[in-house]
Amino acid sequence: MSQNFLERCNEKMQSIYDYCGTKAKQLYAELLAAVRSLYNHCEVKAREFYAMLLEKVQLLYNGCLEKIAAIVAQVKAVIAVAKIQLAMFDRRVRLHVMSIVNKLQAKQQEIVGRMKARYHALRSTWRRNQHFTFWFIPADGQNIAKTHVKKTHLKYAMTAVASFLVFVSCTIGVLAHFAVQNEQQKQELAAYKQTKSEQEQTIRQLRLMAETNQKKLAALSKLEDQVRSQMEKSGAQLPPKSNASDYAGQGGPVLGSANPANIVLEQEKNIGLEADAKKVDLENLLSAIEAENYRREVTPSQWPTSGGYISSSFGGRANPFGGYGRDWHPGIDIATDYGEPVYASAAGYVQQAGWYGGYGIYARINHDYGYQTAYGHMSRVVCRAGQYVKKGEIIGYVGSTGYSTGPHLHFEVIHYGEQVDPSSLM
Ligand SMILES: [Zn+2]
Repeated sequence: MSQNFLERCNEKMQSIYDYCGTKAKQLYAELLAAVRSLYNHCEVKAREFYAMLLEKVQLLYNGCLEKIAAIVAQVKAVIAVAKIQLAMFDRRVRLHVMSIVNKLQAKQQEIVGRMKARYHALRSTWRRNQHFTFWFIPADGQNIAKTHVKKTHLKYAMTAVASFLVFVSCTIGVLAHFAVQNEQQKQELAAYKQTKSEQEQTIRQLRLMAETNQKKLAALSKLEDQVRSQMEKSGAQLPPKSNASDYAGQGGPVLGSANPANIVLEQEKNIGLEADAKKVDLENLLSAIEAENYRREVTPSQWPTSGGYISSSFGGRANPFGGYGRDWHPGIDIATDYGEPVYASAAGYVQQAGWYGGYGIYARINHDYGYQTAYGHMSRVVCRAGQYVKKGEIIGYVGSTGYSTGPHLHFEVIHYGEQVDPSSLM
């Protein structure tokens, strides 16, 4: 039974299912149709609305265009009217001005015509008449006076008046010209006087300056002379002095009466020449002094010890070690205390320094101008060969080394290879 029931249920379920499927398909189809119709309806409506909107916009646009066109037309009309009015006004003004000009011309012609007529009348009157009558009528009409004048007399009188007027104007012109000229000359004279006084003052100042300069130059010249005499006393070879002071102090009474400016110029020129000559002089003197200083520095003249005395002079002498003959002493012996410093007699390069046979501790220096100096019997030497020593520099100390009988310095001066007496140079 239950089997049967189940089968029936199954059949029923199948029929219900089939019915539902068919219904659902029907409903779907109906729904689709409804949606489609709605869509189509909406599309149509939208199109209609769009078309309506477009129409409205177009209408609005057309309305604006029309308005603008109307405004432009109005403006154009206003301008056209203004132009017409302006042209009318211009024509009216022109006409008015023309009428005024015409009136003026007519008036002028009328006046010219009247003047011409008056002139012709006067001329014919002048020609026709030989006499003229002048009436003098007082304002009250009483006591009228008249006088007749001949035409020729009138001519003379007019000529005389014209001549007088010409003469007066010429005189005034000439006088004015002279007055102006006089004033100019006065001003020029004043300016000239001022310039002259300024120039005179300048000249006075220049003269004072020139005198001062000449005094200074004279003092300089004296000083130069003093330097020269001192230099010459010490044996320097000096260049000759130029006669620069010959330029100064010339002139005298002839120049004294000449233009003061020329005198000052002459003085300045002389001072210039003198100064130039003095400059050359002083430069020569300076180079001579420098040369002399150099010569003094590099030639032997300095006593090689501080003090002491010549115990044995240059040349022939008795043999200090006793015996018979005489021997030749090539330098001088300076007796002084042991250990006293020995000075270079001139500047130069040390040629030899150290022990040298009978000379003991010995030094020899090469100087300029062909001179050499040598120092012997020293206790020690403080310079070395090749060293440059200044004049008066300590080169060693007094001793009694070598062939010596007691503390002394043996000092030699050699000139171009020959010993000379050192005491003649010190
Ligand atoms: Zn000696």
